[in-house]
Amino acid sequence: MLMNTYNRYGVTFVKGEGSHLFDDCGKSYLDFASGIGVNSIGYANPKWVKAVSDQAGLLAHTSNLYHTLPAKKLAIKLAALSGLECVFFSNSGAEANEGMIKLARKYSKDAHGEGRSAILTLNNSFHGRTVTTLAATGQNAFHKNFDPFTPGFLHADAGDLDAVKNAEGICAVLIEIVQGEGGVVPLPAEYVREVAKICAERDLLLLIDEVQTGIGRTGSWFAFQEYGISPDVVSFAKGIAGGLPLGGFIANKKCSEVLKPGDHAATFGGNPISCAAALATLEIIEEALPGVKKKGATLLEGLGKINGLSGARGAGLMLGASVCQATHQSVRALVDKLLASGLVCLTAGNETLRLMPPLTITEDEINEGLNIMERCCAN
Ligand code: PLP
Repeated sequence: MLMNTYNRYGVTFVKGEGSHLFDDCGKSYLDFASGIGVNSIGYANPKWVKAVSDQAGLLAHTSNLYHTLPAKKLAIKLAALSGLECVFFSNSGAEANEGMIKLARKYSKDAHGEGRSAILTLNNSFHGRTVTTLAATGQNAFHKNFDPFTPGFLHADAGDLDAVKNAEGICAVLIEIVQGEGGVVPLPAEYVREVAKICAERDLLLLIDEVQTGIGRTGSWFAFQEYGISPDVVSFAKGIAGGLPLGGFIANKKCSEVLKPGDHAATFGGNPISCAAALATLEIIEEALPGVKKKGATLLEGLGKINGLSGARGAGLMLGASVCQATHQSVRALVDKLLASGLVCLTAGNETLRLMPPLTITEDEINEGLNIMERCCAN
């Protein structure tokens, strides 16, 4: 029996094809969720299936004591796409962020000695469910019952530049460009640019958590690229391998040699099958990427017209809207209703309907989804 930690919907999916999922009764669903941003290229893409099965037939795992071709190729590709230098592979987003946090503390100790080990993160942020990434997460709802946490995290409001200027004992600032679990809240560009400036002035590392926003989700390979800044380290996970577990972080030149042999490791990190899947996924996204902004704009515009939704927002194909409880009872009730009508959607917190369709979704499918929403939400 599975542990009951997920508040699951009453559907069992058995198959996926393109932008559609199928349940165990054969009912088809249009997917506006992508497994929370993971199935970035939809389901059963033949190129992805071939890459995964070919690699499974060649070499599934070696340990990180040896080189493998897929991991080497993928690291080179990710460095090129991000404009950064060096990659560490993990399995999940939380694990990627943990590694980034370790790197920042070591950088600061090497460069400045003791007394600068804290990390400033934002209220309303989400960085994962491990004890350390929960400490980094700036939302009390996730903290209840799980203290004591890893010390060394300060939280500030997005927009509060004085907090970044004046925080004492910190070595880094960790932000999401769009706060996903916090309700799909994009950070103001001016604020992000100022944070980058202050970090450079104080030699604080700028860490960007792109676990949810990265790998094409917002219409660029990384969301930071739309803000005219470059982080010291960026984390990624979710959409990178089209459905297989893979995460990691990419460091710039300054930070590329901070972690030395023995400092950090992950048994499954950079698994050859996941990396082969990621290489195929990136090729498929490369074709889809130029269309992501336009498809996002269509969906955003449509969302703005749905009864009982307000404040449609987001970037690319990472969108959210506030749900009027008087019209729909709750966001969960609305998502239940949409699911029953054949549209898979997400929540973010208790007030936000969140949409993250596959990046390969078509305009027609977006309109089909909007029609389902309109029908479900009509008075
Ligand atoms: N960081 C962000 C921004 C996320 O959205 C998430 C997951 O939703 C995580 C970290 C944690 O990722 P994972 O669940 O793969 O550990």
